[in-house]
Amino acid sequence: MIHVTKTYLPPLEEYQQYLKEIWQTGWITNHGALSQQLQQALAQYFNCPNVVLLNNGTIALQIAVKMFSQGTEVVTTPFSYVATTSSIVWEGFTPVFADIDPNTLNIDPARAEAAITPNTAAILATHVYGNACDVEALAAIAKKHNIALIYDAAHAFGCHLNGKALVNYGHMSTLSFHATKLFHTVEGGAIITNDNALGHQASYMRNFGHNGQEQYWGLGVNGKISELHAAMGLLVLPKVNELIERRRTLSQRYDTALAGRLQKQQLHPGLQYNYAYYPVLFASEEALLNTRDALHAIEVQPRRYFYPSLTALPYVQGSAPTPIANEVAKRVLCLPLYYDLPEADVDRIAECIIKSLPS
Ligand SMILES: *Cc1c(COP(=O)(O)O)cnc(C)c1O
Repeated sequence: MIHVTKTYLPPLEEYQQYLKEIWQTGWITNHGALSQQLQQALAQYFNCPNVVLLNNGTIALQIAVKMFSQGTEVVTTPFSYVATTSSIVWEGFTPVFADIDPNTLNIDPARAEAAITPNTAAILATHVYGNACDVEALAAIAKKHNIALIYDAAHAFGCHLNGKALVNYGHMSTLSFHATKLFHTVEGGAIITNDNALGHQASYMRNFGHNGQEQYWGLGVNGKISELHAAMGLLVLPKVNELIERRRTLSQRYDTALAGRLQKQQLHPGLQYNYAYYPVLFASEEALLNTRDALHAIEVQPRRYFYPSLTALPYVQGSAPTPIANEVAKRVLCLPLYYDLPEADVDRIAECIIKSLPS
């Protein structure tokens, strides 16, 4: 069975070496040597001073949203993973959906601006599949209305724009290091910010608000990453460029084999892409379901990611209509893409897709 993704695992002996170190010191969590080492390595990788490591990408979103409480609403995209919206609701804010651009699949800045009210605390936008949002337009809107700009950058590890890591845009970016992501720590995540005050706030919020053992900076939660998770990150990070390179090769192979038969996401000009996903858009939901059935028959499991549109969640009400996102969500499918996917399988998958398309 070929799944949409497969986790890259480093050689077991290398991980065992780290386990030995951990057993020797007896320090298994709470900002230990390995998590500090990973934090520094990522700060260098992103060229950003404030990398706050966390135990998953959802807590990263929750902490980020919580930090901007001068309002009750968060303007966000209906086309993302459920955690983008659920985090807003979990923190007691109301998500206000702004529709997406049908080509980039990212939030449409003009619609985001139109959704701003005096109650807006922040814009939370996702770099969907690693494609950069219109960062210039969104920054101008956030500045004009004096609201926070947060990016859910869970897909954007390794993406660069205008010579800098994409996570450096906005007031803050959140990352997921879940096993299904390009770079992973099994479970994990981070907040990235160039604002030292925000970085400090995020780092005490992750640790119950502690300021030493007997004082508190403020309200906090438990968002700490363990040494066992950090060790995985230290082994995957040096491989990241190779992982991206392999995905690029496979993506280009899909491009050639599918020969323009399916619509693709339009990438931001100048984006250095990470090839995190291989999404394709069908002409209709019917065509998508037909192709999916054909792929299932050859034991290939693509994923309807993201489906349905987040406006359909049972706990969000009164959303303005977002017809583009609703329609795109019905027509998009992510094809298998991972480090050790053989070329022959890409060819087989593409052939099956072409045969299944209406002529
Ligand atoms: C994976 C993902 C998350 C959630 O991250 P976890 O580490 O699984 O909690 C949030 N947003 C997006 C866009 C994601 O893809």
